Amino acid sequence: MGYAVVRGGLVLDIRSGTAAPADILIEDDTIRAVGPPGLAAPAEAHEIAAARRLIHPGLVNAHTHSHGNLAKGMGDRWTLELLLTAAPWLGGNRGAEDIRLSAQIGAVEMVLKGCTACYDLFFEWPMPSRDGMALVADAYAEVGLRAVIAPMVADRSFFEAIPGLADAVPTALQERVAALRLAPGETTLAAIRAALRDWPPDREQVRPAVAPTIPHHCSDDFILGCAALARDFDLGLHSHVAESKVQAMTGIRVYGKTQTAHLDRLGVLGPRFTVAHGVWLDADDMARLGDRGASVAHNPGSNMRLGSGLADARGMLDARVNLAIGTDGASCADNQNMYEAMRLASFVSKVQGPERRRWLSTREAALAATEGGARALGLDGRIGRIAPGFKADLVFLDLDHPNWLPLNDPVNQLVHCEDGTAVDSVMIGGRMVVANRRVLTVDLARLRERAEAARERLAALNADNRLLYDALEPIVDSHCPGLARLPYHVHRYGARLE
Ligand SMILES: [Zn+2]
Repeated sequence: MGYAVVRGGLVLDIRSGTAAPADILIEDDTIRAVGPPGLAAPAEAHEIAAARRLIHPGLVNAHTHSHGNLAKGMGDRWTLELLLTAAPWLGGNRGAEDIRLSAQIGAVEMVLKGCTACYDLFFEWPMPSRDGMALVADAYAEVGLRAVIAPMVADRSFFEAIPGLADAVPTALQERVAALRLAPGETTLAAIRAALRDWPPDREQVRPAVAPTIPHHCSDDFILGCAALARDFDLGLHSHVAESKVQAMTGIRVYGKTQTAHLDRLGVLGPRFTVAHGVWLDADDMARLGDRGASVAHNPGSNMRLGSGLADARGMLDARVNLAIGTDGASCADNQNMYEAMRLASFVSKVQGPERRRWLSTREAALAATEGGARALGLDGRIGRIAPGFKADLVFLDLDHPNWLPLNDPVNQLVHCEDGTAVDSVMIGGRMVVANRRVLTVDLARLRERAEAARERLAALNADNRLLYDALEPIVDSHCPGLARLPYHVHRYGARLE
């Protein structure tokens, strides 16, 4: 690729809150120098004009699900538990082309909205495969989005994982529910191991990870098996922890302690561990995560959409947890807009009480959406900043867009004003993937045709699964909230079990 030099833009430094005129010298996929206008560059350097552009480090989406993109907007008043019940309807009968297409749609949405890297917990029925992982990796590589892809796995179905739920299912439906059983744990772990064995050595563009989906959906042996894979192949671990109150209370029932305390006892928490959501973490849980150097992917949009609650981001930062921000999947968020997620992270912190010290600043929200996400993805020091040695993952915002008229404060406006509509161009690893508001790597018209064809075919194939959901909805809806009525003393900030 050689050299490129970006000239004439304002370069955002989130830590100092400034956007100074500066040029950026890029060699291949890496930033070599950032300096005052007129920065020296090799004669052969390709020049990129950036006048009237604010250049910010690409946003990092620390939690999404690529399989959700074909299911966007399919439901409304869903709790997490109803969403899990709807999974066979939303994601059933997917073929190879669907796996790839769903990831591509999300990747295109993300790059058009200023995101340059994501942590994707994708699901493949009945277990992950080498081919499935390769399809998702390929989809990201084609669009040009950097990604960590973690097969989302378990050895218990939702109905097996929630105490008393399987018994609450009427006899007529029990056979259908039994068919939702997942592959045995050892089979799933062996499938992931086989896929990892011949993973391409280049892990800068797309790297694997492992996602034991929800702790009590996994036996302890299975969680330890995932942790062993992570250790053997140097991967991240990612799990939905303390997301809904039902989930938090189920953890107490199953383990006699919080999910986080249980994971800590198993010895799986560490700098490569990411908790998704963490709405119902108590102060001890946060201290444990902070002490182990773990991350939380905070998904404020999804947490509100599913009625899961408001996470205590300040408590996490006080406990030295690495805070990252995610959109969550398109079947529960529903868009893949990291500007919105960042803005909601700021707002959600402010709506929890009048004590201003506990509110996130725009600087903290922006850092969580860049450097915090980088650390969660295992790419700290590689992405999330515009500085020498970092990957050239850059977003060019149009300062002539009304979002920026006038430019009063770059960080406040990035978090509170920008919504993705001012994104003009996006560079990932030195490659332009968006220019003049258009994605360059994928034919959008063709993507639309494929998406509509897939929607029609999958709707027909999953008609039965939809009927099954309709039949199960009232059962799950009456059983699960009962679990959440157990005492869980909620303080002004955070929660404590009694
Ligand atoms: Zn999730």
